[in-house]
Amino acid sequence: MNRYDLVVVGAGIHGAGVAQAAAAAGHSVLILEKGSPADGTSSRSSKLIHGGLRYLESGQFHLVRESLLERTLMLRNAPDLVHLVPFYIPVYRGTRRRPWQLRIGLSLYAVLGGFGPGTSFGSVPRSQWDQLDGLDTQDLDAVLVYHDGQTDDAALTRAIVRSAVQLGAEIAAPAEFIAAELEPAGALVTYSVSNQTRSCQAHVLVNAAGPWATQVLERVIPRQQPAAIELVQGTHIVIQGGTHRGVYYVEAPQDGRAVFVMPWHGHTLVGTTETAFRGKPDDVRPLPEEVAYLEAIVRRYFPRYRSDEPLAMLDSFAGLRVLPAAKGGAFGRSRETLLEVDRADRPRVLTIYGGKLTGWRAAAEQTLQRLESALPAARARADTRELPLKPD
Ligand SMILES: Cc1cc2nc3c(=O)[nH]c(=O)nc-3n(C[C@H](O)[C@H](O)[C@H](O)COP(=O)(O)OP(=O)(O)OC[C@H]3O[C@@H](n4cnc5c(N)ncnc54)[C@H](O)[C@@H]3O)c2cc1C
Repeated sequence: MNRYDLVVVGAGIHGAGVAQAAAAAGHSVLILEKGSPADGTSSRSSKLIHGGLRYLESGQFHLVRESLLERTLMLRNAPDLVHLVPFYIPVYRGTRRRPWQLRIGLSLYAVLGGFGPGTSFGSVPRSQWDQLDGLDTQDLDAVLVYHDGQTDDAALTRAIVRSAVQLGAEIAAPAEFIAAELEPAGALVTYSVSNQTRSCQAHVLVNAAGPWATQVLERVIPRQQPAAIELVQGTHIVIQGGTHRGVYYVEAPQDGRAVFVMPWHGHTLVGTTETAFRGKPDDVRPLPEEVAYLEAIVRRYFPRYRSDEPLAMLDSFAGLRVLPAAKGGAFGRSRETLLEVDRADRPRVLTIYGGKLTGWRAAAEQTLQRLESALPAARARADTRELPLKPD
């Protein structure tokens, strides 16, 4: 029977990152993915590599700082996958976040980003407002501009998987994790490939199954207590017609939430919503009321879409955020990654909950640190801060 230092369940960005970090540290790794890499949340995000300006409002300074540092690394290591784009924030007479508040936020963002690449900001002069993709200029008081990163989330995830494989990681896909039995010094892992059951041993099982993490943990014997999390659905729509200048960061007229209107392969990507989700993760789909909510935002800010005709919608997709369970809306809840182990000393199973696309590498390094006592000594092959990532 094959024996690995780590078996990782899920080839989303977190599983890919852990496999890369583990292989770079010299460990043997097997990734199990029930579909293809990035089939889950990691192809259904807003595709932003960002600190998250709005997380300043909920005081998540550590997260913003870490994310901005990771952004700097990705701009250097993955220049064909992550690039800076201008973000425009229009402020109308009735907009809740006023220009002075936004300037304070953007100054803090620059400080937390260590004044690194893309941390400068300013205002778009009134004389250039007509060059902003047809943005509504009625009652417009100011347009602030700063920079953040955009990527192709699925392509980025695949690039990290490839990097892990180049460093020696193995991947089985499609291969579904079926169960794990914890033993004194590791886990006996069972999975299925083309309806055939296979087994292997691992020092540690890393559960990087994103929204499926609780389901995966339920198949671990003895039974592990899952963390108190909630799944919150986020829908995007892609509409015909380009947004070329950059990303527009607007307030939803319905409830004041911040929503992005972004360029995407020559068209416009709009998102996202926040809808409580109670079903099975495989069943997540955009809801008609979410699509209507996003369409109303586009019509509000871009008058060319205001005709009675339905918008030419090219695509819509929904993903699930994994957030700590709490009362109230999802907007202000922590986006930090939560790492849970079965036991503090020599863990045999570690579950990754939540997190962000942007923080994948930092989360992976934290995962390995957490597992240090459980993993055999190994000779490092590379430093993940230096590894280049290339598109397919
Ligand atoms: C709407 C939305 C927008 C977002 N926008 C951004 C953004 O702009 N920027 C940002 O930084 N972050 C963003 N995020 C967060 C980011 O997308 C997620 O944190 C990240 O993609 C989660 O990756 P993951 O690897 O944990 O999970 P997933 O990508 O969901 O990966 C889990 C994988 O596990 C596999 N799996 C499940 N069960 C099994 C099994 N039994 N056996 C084998 N494989 C299994 C699945 O097939 C899947 O591929 C967004 C999230 C959402 C929901």
